[in-house]
Amino acid sequence: MTDEVKTFVEGMWKNRNQDWMERALNQLDNYKAQYGCKFCAEHDPVTLDIHSSDPDIAVGVMNILGKVGFSEVIRELKKCDIICAKCWRKICE
Ligand SMILES: [Zn+2]
Repeated sequence: MTDEVKTFVEGMWKNRNQDWMERALNQLDNYKAQYGCKFCAEHDPVTLDIHSSDPDIAVGVMNILGKVGFSEVIRELKKCDIICAKCWRKICE
């Protein structure tokens, strides 16, 4: 493989991964919007976050996002709570 071809192929892979990541993030937003906040009527994914009593699970979701099928992401998400920033602040205070 010449360097030129190598750069081209690497670029294609990078774009492909970015597309996957973008799609995964969209799916995550859809999931958050669908479930909404656990404590209030908030359904805007921008303010909704994934929380878990086990922080490893919440971090794990972000780590597998875009790397595995979304059904697997959902399996992990089901172990978490969707809580909006406002309610989260109330819980923390
Ligand atoms: Zn809320």
